[in-house]
Amino acid sequence: MNKRDEIMRISETELAAQRQFSEEFKALPHRPQTYYIVTYGCQMNAHDSEKLAGMLEGMGMRPAPAKEEADFVLHNTCCIRDNAERKALGNVTWLKEIKKERPGLLIGVCGCMVQEPGMADKLLRQYPFVDVAFGTGNIHQLPELLYRAAETRRRVVAVPDEQSTIAEGLPIRRESPFQAYVTIMYGCNNFCSYCIVPYVRGRERSREADDIMREVETLQKQGVKEIMLLGQNVNSYGSDVPGGVTFPRLLRRVTETGIPRVRFMTSHPKDLSDELVEEMASNPALCRHLHLPVQSGSNRILQAMNRKYTRETYLEKVEKIRRAAPDVGLTTDIIVAFPGETDRDFEDTMDLARQVCYDSAFTFIYSPRVGTRAAEMPGRIDPALATERIGRLIALQEEMTGRRFAEMTGKTEQVLVTGRSKRSETQFTGKTSRNISVNFEGNERMIGQIIPVAITAASKTTLKGTVREGENNEPASHR
Ligand code: SF4
Repeated sequence: MNKRDEIMRISETELAAQRQFSEEFKALPHRPQTYYIVTYGCQMNAHDSEKLAGMLEGMGMRPAPAKEEADFVLHNTCCIRDNAERKALGNVTWLKEIKKERPGLLIGVCGCMVQEPGMADKLLRQYPFVDVAFGTGNIHQLPELLYRAAETRRRVVAVPDEQSTIAEGLPIRRESPFQAYVTIMYGCNNFCSYCIVPYVRGRERSREADDIMREVETLQKQGVKEIMLLGQNVNSYGSDVPGGVTFPRLLRRVTETGIPRVRFMTSHPKDLSDELVEEMASNPALCRHLHLPVQSGSNRILQAMNRKYTRETYLEKVEKIRRAAPDVGLTTDIIVAFPGETDRDFEDTMDLARQVCYDSAFTFIYSPRVGTRAAEMPGRIDPALATERIGRLIALQEEMTGRRFAEMTGKTEQVLVTGRSKRSETQFTGKTSRNISVNFEGNERMIGQIIPVAITAASKTTLKGTVREGENNEPASHR
């Protein structure tokens, strides 16, 4: 074990202690039997919920069909925007009424919101019906925390001051047998001025490549078709490990296992290297999708956001990827109405979105987060103006998406079939390598397979297609 391991890795002794709490929990009289997890926010949180579910099942609990029926309801929260936080707290409060009818119900809150400065105190003071609260750094302690809450019927709160750990080997209850998340790093060092993530998820910590590979090899043997590698900034993977592998080299190793499709999320533009562009161009198992959050098209605003690139350097990187791998679809995140954003700044963003012509964009009105630098900045934008701007941006993006999707009609796409469409009994749905949804007539046997689908039409958000019967449905490249 090297020095970095000693500092960061949760020890086997601690994990064994947690397993012991799981066993003791099972022996508790009148313990909760069922659980329900409500997940808010990003893929990192969705994957954390899979670990929480794995631990709860290791404690002998089983999933409840609805939160109204569960003995333990856990809210895995997000704090990236004010409305995500308000929604989570609203839903937690709603459970108060259920608890009046069923006093045995245990209510838990965890995740990024709990890690915010002052939030644990607020939960203690204003939400007395919450039984267990813990931050993102305490996930591995769930067996102990829930055991204590169930045994003593007292409230248990645990939030670490500093986030500097990695817990390996936690049980995971994966949502899908053919798609899997694999976290490759935790935290972020970038301190974009609007973002709370570095404060609630701590500094960058890369997992050891060998630990990642063991997880990926297991998934490959289990028949998983698509893996998404997760991190707040995957492009800087390995930079905290002396002599560690770079992200493109990790991608190469992951795809060498034979996993048909590999995706990753999210890439900071400043760290998008030529090596990564070359890997995307030459490695057929890497999905043809790159999410490259631009946030603004104005240099003045990018500087105020502390993004550490300019619109020119961003566009150069877009150009590089388009030249090397023209079949890669780009998506982005854009914040509208950042403090001090002028009409001119906003027009720069519109212009950049037009130039890049993204497949799709997540667009948000700026939401101040207490404790971040931007929250103290002057020049708040009038809400009506912010709404007007985002409306114009969404309309532009719909036009661009329509253009991108129209280019795909008449082509055949390899589609990973994910399930039935919600719209019709006979319709099935799946994702192209570019991460675009396709609906088509299919059957149950197709679920979990990568099949060729001829694209026949495009709507604002999805493609429509026809399965190409009789063709090899697991081709060797660019799945
Ligand atoms: S790169 Fe910026 S926006 Fe992304 S998580 Fe880090 S601080 Fe937040």
